[in-house]
Amino acid sequence: MAIALSKIVQGMEPSATLAMSAKAKELKAKGETVVDLSVGEPDFNTPKHICDAAVAAMNAGYTRYTVASGIPALKEAICADYLARFGLEYKPSQIVVSNGAKHSLHNAFFCTLNPGDEAILPAPYWVSYAELIKLSGAVPVIVSTREEDDFKLTPEALRAAITPKTRMLLLCSPSNPTGSCYTRAELEALADIAIENDLFVVSDEIYERLVYDGAPFASFPTLREGLADRTIVINGVSKTYAMTGWRVGWTLAPENVSKKMASLQSQETSNPCSVSQYAALAAVTGDQGCVDAMRAEFEKRRDYVAGRIAAIPGMTCGKMGGAFYAFFNVQNFLGREYNGVKVETSQDWCMALLEQKKVATVMGSAFGAEGYVRASFAASMDDLKEAFDRIADFVS
Ligand code: PMP
Ligand code: GLU
Repeated sequence: MAIALSKIVQGMEPSATLAMSAKAKELKAKGETVVDLSVGEPDFNTPKHICDAAVAAMNAGYTRYTVASGIPALKEAICADYLARFGLEYKPSQIVVSNGAKHSLHNAFFCTLNPGDEAILPAPYWVSYAELIKLSGAVPVIVSTREEDDFKLTPEALRAAITPKTRMLLLCSPSNPTGSCYTRAELEALADIAIENDLFVVSDEIYERLVYDGAPFASFPTLREGLADRTIVINGVSKTYAMTGWRVGWTLAPENVSKKMASLQSQETSNPCSVSQYAALAAVTGDQGCVDAMRAEFEKRRDYVAGRIAAIPGMTCGKMGGAFYAFFNVQNFLGREYNGVKVETSQDWCMALLEQKKVATVMGSAFGAEGYVRASFAASMDDLKEAFDRIADFVS
């Protein structure tokens, strides 16, 4: 007898980014020289002072259960950081530390959305948002944005998508997968519409420290008085401190939401890894020079990748103001054959590129934007050069 799957998971897709990364790893294990630009994770090692703090925590015996919603010292450090950098006054009771920001997103959606509620999700969107929203029974309402608008949601498009069932707006700036960054004024216009229509906002700010060209970053709750009462901010250590494997993310939320997320987490997972929490504490409270150094390196790579894409006739890419992704338009390269293989969709294009040239990317369709491909530039300059040599060769 096959065990029937629950209705809620039947339609659930696996993460396309992690699937492409697994495929690249599989080919590598077979001895192929794959250049992997699929998954978005810094190629740097976690800075030494952070690893040292983890070792010290283990040796000091901090290896037991902690408070399910995170150690008080880390919550206090997050509050102090938000106060210092953004002037935002959060209390430790408003912070929930989870097993990565992906888990934070799940907690946030699960504790706030009801079946049938509508959540506005601008596309291109990061792969996991739509699936995690659906797990809560709510409906992701996908609103397409345009390359000409740098893939930003316009006030008009937001207004047009709102119905009596709309409860939530999801924003991600800097964006995964496009790298586009909203200005403060652009966010203010969206915030005003959220306030007028009594929506709450989940603001995924996980790439906030990776903003280029010296541009300022505006944390969503700073935009208008009282906005913190209707905002859940998502952040974590994965991207800022090259700590993807440690699994620490967090939410800053109104107290009633935080309390319930803490309860949910106490039932589902208990605390995030104790040692990782001490590492995250060292990351947040330690010298931030490592962040500046990594950002400078990513900025160099961004410039290089932008130049390589611009040099391929027929290929375009929006402005990458932050994060570490290039989301390039391959519409001119579809409907053709590549070494006898017919390529109609972004998925076909990515698979043909992987099979024929051994470069791993992710199809735009996984991000709700057919006709585009995402390449992560969190890879060494040598890898980026090799990858774009192969891509240029592939399309020529
Ligand atoms: N949000 C965005 C936009 C991301 O790109 C990622 C990366 N996977 C996450 C959340 C989750 O990060 P993590 O679970 O590694 O903290
Ligand atoms: N955020 C990264 C990406 O988009 C990590 C993979 C994932 O968590 O899906 O590639």
